[in-house]
Amino acid sequence: MNTQNSKNAFQQAVKHIPGGVNSPVRAFKSVGGNPLFIQSAKGSKITDIDNNEYIDYVASWGPMILGHSHPDVIEALHQTALKGTSFGAPTLIETEIAELICDMIPSIESIRMVNSGTEATMSALRLARGYTKRDLVIKFEGCYHGHGDSFLIKAGSGALTFGTPNSPGVTKGTASDTLTAEYNNLDSVLNLFREYEDQIAAVILEPVTGNMGVVRPTDEFIKGLRKACTENGTLLIFDEVMTGFRVAKGGAQEILGITPDLTTLGKIIGGGLPVGAYGGKKEIMEHLAPNGPIYQAGTLSGNPMAMTAGLVTLKKLHETPDFYEKLEEKAAFLCNGLQENLNKLNFPGVINRVGSMFTLFFTNEKEVNNFSDVMKCDTDLFAKYFMLGLESGIYTAPSQFEAGFISIAHSTEELQKTIDASYRALEQLK
Ligand code: PMP
Repeated sequence: MNTQNSKNAFQQAVKHIPGGVNSPVRAFKSVGGNPLFIQSAKGSKITDIDNNEYIDYVASWGPMILGHSHPDVIEALHQTALKGTSFGAPTLIETEIAELICDMIPSIESIRMVNSGTEATMSALRLARGYTKRDLVIKFEGCYHGHGDSFLIKAGSGALTFGTPNSPGVTKGTASDTLTAEYNNLDSVLNLFREYEDQIAAVILEPVTGNMGVVRPTDEFIKGLRKACTENGTLLIFDEVMTGFRVAKGGAQEILGITPDLTTLGKIIGGGLPVGAYGGKKEIMEHLAPNGPIYQAGTLSGNPMAMTAGLVTLKKLHETPDFYEKLEEKAAFLCNGLQENLNKLNFPGVINRVGSMFTLFFTNEKEVNNFSDVMKCDTDLFAKYFMLGLESGIYTAPSQFEAGFISIAHSTEELQKTIDASYRALEQLK
């Protein structure tokens, strides 16, 4: 496979861009080599600047659930752009998308648009603190909530991949307001509630994790969190930036049957354009400016381009009959195939999947249920598997600690090709 153009492009990029990338997770540092530079994408495929084509399981890290360059999204964007890209004043489309989101996720009665998932979680946390008049927040080891200071404590995703889960630059004061607990370990949370009685503003978590790879919460854990939050006057925040409209029409909260107080969203609701949002009980949201004293704002928040791409995407998800059933079938087909490969070759590994999010963990453990299980994975083996995948035309996240995403555009043929490529790679690595 010739990737010379990408190599050259990377050498140019590093001259003026730190690490050559505008987001660290794009670097191939932890798997060796340099990132591929992408020129275009359509449906389930992306094409690099050497004209190599790959079946894509990164999906821009989650948003592209319809596949890339969906004709309806592109056409709507075109029409919107012709009318102007930003006014800094209310538009009808903002109300329309707010109504649709509140309809699809009933726990959200009122919603505020922002420009990224990071902004969504930062703002939700400020709201929770302002509302409860408390300072502390509990987050979970390995969960990632964007790069806000309060969340770069034992963080997942790129922070974990590159060995900096606690980022320098976060002040001691901020860091000491963030308490960390262990995912799927309710006692670790209850102990903090006992130790810091009446001081905890919020518990925030990925209700299904993607940023340490896919891990599902146990029933006992998630129900226990809800109960503990209610009893302690603490807000439960589901960070559904990744899982929202991904694992089900109503997000992870639908499949778990748990109602959070606040939900953060991003990715899919922008249909591939920059976006974030946070929402929840109206009574809480009313504390935001201009109605209440808790301040949060944004020049480009709710801008027509992102709202258009998001609205068209959400409408498809809402109106296409059996959309999530079809996506589930595709995801099950792929992951069953990958599991059969492991079985046939007697290759140690665990596949975790929730809806169209999945991770193949290279581990000798039988299950991966929390951060310490995740940390037992063989990242060197992952790196080799990743590179073999690329050579077979399969593009996945360049880190063991991430989720893969399947879109509705992935055909059975492409999924089978992926299963076959995975088999050959595992055979070689055995
Ligand atoms: N929360 C979660 C659960 C995420 O997965 C991400 C991004 N991967 C974020 C927050 C941050 O979103 P953004 O990158 O848009 O700031």
